[in-house]
Amino acid sequence: MRIVLLGPPGSGKGTQAKFIIDKFGIPHISTGDIFRKNIKEGTPLGVEAKSYIDKGQLVPDELTIAIVEDRLKEDDCKNGFMLDGFPRTVAQAEALTKALESMNTSLDHVINIAVADKALVDRLTGRRVCLSCGASFHMVFNPPKKEGICDYCSAELVQRADDNIDTVSSRLEVYGTQTKPLIEYYEIKGLLRAIEGEKDIDKVFEDICKALGSDK
Ligand code: ADP
Ligand code: ADP
Ligand code: ZN
Repeated sequence: MRIVLLGPPGSGKGTQAKFIIDKFGIPHISTGDIFRKNIKEGTPLGVEAKSYIDKGQLVPDELTIAIVEDRLKEDDCKNGFMLDGFPRTVAQAEALTKALESMNTSLDHVINIAVADKALVDRLTGRRVCLSCGASFHMVFNPPKKEGICDYCSAELVQRADDNIDTVSSRLEVYGTQTKPLIEYYEIKGLLRAIEGEKDIDKVFEDICKALGSDK
């Protein structure tokens, strides 16, 4: 099972990713999580990525593509993977196709989670995340069992620096110009699975499972 999760910032990619990897036993590759881990550890990659992320811009293709190419070569990706937040540009999508071709494989499904801008702003500004395991919660829509604590690993929940209204606006704009064209790109290839993202989290997962040809 080789899957890409596509959708605007806040559409629920990270939330659904947790369920999908549990169900299918495939690794979760989130470029956002990889950048945040490097920022937390103060690596050179982290320092460079932060300068873009804080402005709501994309990290340059060259850097991002190299990270994903390396990650896909690791052993745990042999039987499948789930890419979350990559590709985000046509250049990244083309690089992914090529990288998989060189490994004699290809994608099986591209899940596109659709959510309108208005809902995205509320979701992103109320989001709280766990920097240890990448889990995502919402103060109102999906609160953790214990306030401020991750349900999965008990680490402290924080608000992401880029989840403020100004940065959110530029991220949504960047999505519209750079990432949205990927919907058509994958539709033409017959890989796109359209999912209505403005439903309860459980129901969205059920729809994703159906689109993947599996029961919940
Ligand atoms: P993404 O990874 O696409 O940016 P997240 O999975 O982090 O999105 O979700 C963004 C925010 O919206 C989080 O606060 C999450 O708890 C909340 N959320 C996710 N799915 C839903 C849903 N179906 N309904 C309401 N809120 C949701
Ligand atoms: P979200 O889906 O909520 O916007 P992510 O955690 O996927 O958040 O990404 C956070 C930020 O990391 C993005 O706004 C962008 O700056 C950077 N980023 C993540 N993935 C990519 C990518 N594939 N290409 C370029 N930049 C990326
Ligand atoms: Zn956690």
